[in-house]
Amino acid sequence: MAADSTNLLPLLESQWEAARLDHLRQIGRIAQQLGTPAYLVGGAVRDLFLKRFAPDLDVAVEGDTRALAEACKAQIRGAHYQFHAQFGTAILEDSQGFALDIAQCRLEHYPAPAALPEVRPGNIHADLARRDFTVNAMAIRLDPQQFGILLDPYDGKADLQAGLLRTLHPRSFLDDPTRILRGLRFATRFRMDLAPESHQQLKQALQADIFTQLSGARLWRELRYLLELEALPVALPLLTAWKLWFLLRPTAPASNTMPTLLQRGQEQIQWLRTLFPDEPPAIFIPMLILIWQDVPLADIQHYLDRWPVPDRSRLLADLQVLPGLPDTLLKAKRPSQKANIWQGVSVAGILAAMAVYADNTTLVDSARLYLQVQRRLPSLFNGQELQTLGLKAGPSLGNTLKLLREAQLDGEISNKENAQQWLIKQGILPPKPL
Ligand code: ATP
Repeated sequence: MAADSTNLLPLLESQWEAARLDHLRQIGRIAQQLGTPAYLVGGAVRDLFLKRFAPDLDVAVEGDTRALAEACKAQIRGAHYQFHAQFGTAILEDSQGFALDIAQCRLEHYPAPAALPEVRPGNIHADLARRDFTVNAMAIRLDPQQFGILLDPYDGKADLQAGLLRTLHPRSFLDDPTRILRGLRFATRFRMDLAPESHQQLKQALQADIFTQLSGARLWRELRYLLELEALPVALPLLTAWKLWFLLRPTAPASNTMPTLLQRGQEQIQWLRTLFPDEPPAIFIPMLILIWQDVPLADIQHYLDRWPVPDRSRLLADLQVLPGLPDTLLKAKRPSQKANIWQGVSVAGILAAMAVYADNTTLVDSARLYLQVQRRLPSLFNGQELQTLGLKAGPSLGNTLKLLREAQLDGEISNKENAQQWLIKQGILPPKPL
């Protein structure tokens, strides 16, 4: 490994608050006492150069994770940790709630393409060598004498400056094809591109059909992260350039309206999120509906069979009603009829429909009214109250509740009194004795 004496202390001090740095210093000091050096690794180092705030800090230690976490707990006032035996990692939190992940430096070996790696303890060099891209394979020393010194064995800093994602070795994508999708995400978020030799490796991995060897669950996890990216529209030309559309749909979209469509979808999600912060919709479902809105259902089934997507039948049902929605709504005259149509679609499906038919103001207004008001309209009576009024329990009671809701949506009733009158007028309740 080439020695690198770049001292990042000034950069760290200019970007991170003192408390965060103090916490790292303490960990570095305690790790040194234990004789197991610790390093800041991965995304946080990359983000430091990009001048982006790194929310998650990863510390790699050349020794026992639990022993370090335990010593930190003993020496740092208010510190505590959670140890995950399965992964041998610990989350260390200080009294101010500042948390970071500690993992043991490890060496990885891939027994077969796309299989999970065999892992054993290693030093920082081995730990950096197992990483996906040079820009993610940098570390910062935390030991007191050398705190802030950069380890950059693969010239990640230079690649970062050149905007290039470069794998560490030619088999990287074959070992772990999730790195291709991680690369796509980094390229999208940081507006980077693959280095030419890594692009060549991508081609070889695709020729080897590497994704067929990846489990559906691992693939879906990565696709989900992709669909949730704020910069998702930027990823679309990359999906074309990297020949990866097949992971999401049988062919690339025929028209170039997809970025606009997805952007509109994101705006609708944002609109709903602002209105109802406690009900954040799962971003990936509306995005999938939009990506699939022109794909035959039989093809979609093929993807859904492979991925553990939640609520598949709901998603398919939404896709089925989507093309006919403008006509169906046009035929519905009463507000209750429109609300009943929206009730048959999921919230994600409605948000997608608002993006697909953004130019149809009647449809969009009706969808907004449903999401904002109609679906949350408090009932004037519950089943119990109707029984107190003399109605019998059973299916007819459910039907009466439905009729009441429709009358309420159509503005025919607005309070308990006029609702009761309405029930009498409909012959559901007997007239009140004089
Ligand atoms: P962000 O959290 O901003 O998305 P990150 O780089 O921190 O970026 P993580 O998924 O948290 O992303 O991964 C942390 C680090 O672990 C990465 O920087 C990389 O060095 C390494 N890493 C994660 N997944 C892989 C993988 N599949 N192959 C090799 N290295 C990986």
